[in-house]
Amino acid sequence: MKHAPFDVIVIGGGHAGAEAAHAAARAGARTALVTMRRDTIGVMSCNPAIGGLGKGHLVREIDAMGGIMGLAADRSGIQFRLLNRRKGPAVRGPRTQSDRVFYRAAIQSLLADQQNLTILEGEVADLILTDGRIAGIELADGSQIGAGAVVLTTGTFLRGVIHIGDRKMEGGRIGDKPSNRLAQRLRDLSLPLGRLKTGTPPRLRSSSIDWARLELQPADDDPMLFSFLSNAPTVRQISCGITHTNERTHDLITANLSRSAMYGGHIEGVGPRYCPSIEDKVVRFADKTSHQIFLEPEGLDSDVVYPNGISTSLPEDVQHDYVHSIVGLEQAEILQPGYAIEYDYVDPQSLNAALELPMLPGLFLAGQINGTTGYEEAAAQGLMAGLNAARQVAGQGPITLGRDRAYIGVLIDDLVTRGVSEPYRMFTSRAEYRLSLRADNADQRLTPLAADLDLIDDARRQLFDAKLDALATGRAMLEGETFTPREIAAQGIAINQDGQRRTGMDILAFPDVTPDQIDPLLPEFAALPAEIRTQLAIEALYRTYVDRQQRDADALRRDEALSIPETLDYSDIGGLSNELRGKLTRIRPQTLGQAGRIDGMTPAALALILTRIRQDE
Ligand code: FAD
Repeated sequence: MKHAPFDVIVIGGGHAGAEAAHAAARAGARTALVTMRRDTIGVMSCNPAIGGLGKGHLVREIDAMGGIMGLAADRSGIQFRLLNRRKGPAVRGPRTQSDRVFYRAAIQSLLADQQNLTILEGEVADLILTDGRIAGIELADGSQIGAGAVVLTTGTFLRGVIHIGDRKMEGGRIGDKPSNRLAQRLRDLSLPLGRLKTGTPPRLRSSSIDWARLELQPADDDPMLFSFLSNAPTVRQISCGITHTNERTHDLITANLSRSAMYGGHIEGVGPRYCPSIEDKVVRFADKTSHQIFLEPEGLDSDVVYPNGISTSLPEDVQHDYVHSIVGLEQAEILQPGYAIEYDYVDPQSLNAALELPMLPGLFLAGQINGTTGYEEAAAQGLMAGLNAARQVAGQGPITLGRDRAYIGVLIDDLVTRGVSEPYRMFTSRAEYRLSLRADNADQRLTPLAADLDLIDDARRQLFDAKLDALATGRAMLEGETFTPREIAAQGIAINQDGQRRTGMDILAFPDVTPDQIDPLLPEFAALPAEIRTQLAIEALYRTYVDRQQRDADALRRDEALSIPETLDYSDIGGLSNELRGKLTRIRPQTLGQAGRIDGMTPAALALILTRIRQDE
């Protein structure tokens, strides 16, 4: 195989790799996506679902930047549900179950439609370095391809080992071989590697489940989709089933704990605390006699069901026994046993905020290789790594998103400044500015940036401009007139008779007031599209808090953005604890803001660093 050099090569066709390749190509780089098997591009290794709390925010942001995960989720979604619907709009999370086959097909077709992008099949065995800088890759067949920058997104494949009870075999996930040669090369290059693990449940045959005995959970009637370009689901919506583990299930698991790969001492890697295996749940929550299980069909024409909530590394015979102890699953046929996988990851503290590895300039890392778990976390990093790789090759500076601008910014900042001690997943609680970082306004936060960087097409640009116009019109209507407490109360809205006149925006800021209630006061507002009315109502509800958050963020940013000189000698700053000195020297934060987020950092220590920077200025 002989190829002209590319600007950017992306290694891996998982969720990080697909998004990285698409972003690099959109940014104008001649891009190659090199992956072990072309037909597995876009495969969901574990659960057939996209989004959820925090994760749904990431997908909306990826979409707002012109990425592909949201579009693929919308084209393949078979059960859209908005999680936390009854809570405030800031913490609602869009989620869908996806048809696995449709999702993979959607990703492959979106990549095929992208200009500047070539897809190549092959195992990458080595990285080519010239003068300490990445210059390309070498495939297992010995062929070499040059590149200005490389994005590495090998997921769970680096020295992947699959465990089922005391059985273990090499693999990147079930059915795929691991990436051992590249893993060895990363070791030889002295990259800071660690070991993590994750698990997946057994897959069940749908026709062997007694669905009649189960509670069914339908899709939402008025679904929230992921892409700002989508209007409605394109495929049929289905229900999933709900069942529960019981005391007999727990007894069976407890009696066989020593045979679990995770509890039998076969695995050294650390697992995700927030996606525990059923063994973990039974041990950690010993007082609970039951855990919920969602039975999620893997597709419209599929006979495979994913039992969400019982991932395991117990031996197959125990998996059979405990599955059969569950209501509705008494006769369930296991099509593929659950398993755990252990793999190498790179300590993300060795990356800079552009996701580049400064010790090997030109090498960017994204996805599970950085210690995260989840498709959405992987795709979000892929987007930024692909974009920054392309920009570097074009001689442009990196793009980073602040924590006050996007969940993507929170994710990357957490990774590069704090590192991981277990597989990292996103939650809304990780975002300090979550009242402004909502799923509903991801486009307003990020699409203008994507437009400036020329990452989006005309269709998206026009749709976004039209939405901004409609919002401005609606805002002007809501702020253009005021009403007396008596007029407001006449609409059934509880209000103090304090004599103060209020605008439509003020009225919508009252908790529980819906846009319909102010229609009689402002008939022209009633004519606006439902999406615009809802968006303005959310804006009104959060306006005061968001304004305050913005002022706090501005104040913090003034100091946060302050650069820390690379030569700063932390051993020379009196008053810092040895532990903090060690962390600061190792992590070398680039700004005061990053220093502030290092685990264990105190306001007093930050003040010492600030004083030193100012002294040296
Ligand atoms: P992947 O999706 O793993 O993709 C890696 C890609 O790199 C593949 O296309 C592979 O072929 C390619 N590749 C690797 N090495 C090479 C090479 N040398 N040359 C060329 N190509 C290469 N996530 C959750 O959120 N919750 C869970 O409970 C969960 N459980 C999981 C259980 C299992 C068993 C597995 C395998 C994964 C699980 N995940 C879970 C994780 C989820 O699958 C990943 O987070 C996500 O797929 C990561 O995306 P990625 O792009 O980083 O890597």
